[in-house]
Amino acid sequence: MKEGVGIWRCVSCRVGFFPKPLLCPRCHGDKFESDRVCEAVVEEVSVIRHMLGQEDWQPRRIASVRTSDGQLMTVGLRDQSEPGTTIELFEEGSAPFGQAKAAR
Ligand SMILES: [Zn+2]
Repeated sequence: MKEGVGIWRCVSCRVGFFPKPLLCPRCHGDKFESDRVCEAVVEEVSVIRHMLGQEDWQPRRIASVRTSDGQLMTVGLRDQSEPGTTIELFEEGSAPFGQAKAAR
């Protein structure tokens, strides 16, 4: 498990993107460096209840989230977080996941 999820940041204007654009829509730069973002707010949750060809499928929750840096991305949810919840982001393999920030 790796903390945060990868995004791309325009080298000239520093705006972050996900997925990586061909050209920065803001400054038309074409150089990007990888960066990571660790926090997001859940905007929408959907549940995948069936998957064709899968017998023992367990319902999975996926969420459309807005990262603290402004990107919109889809992640797998590891808990029962609802829209409005601030979650922390992490990667397993290359897949992005999120779960509610642990109360501290
Ligand atoms: Zn730019």
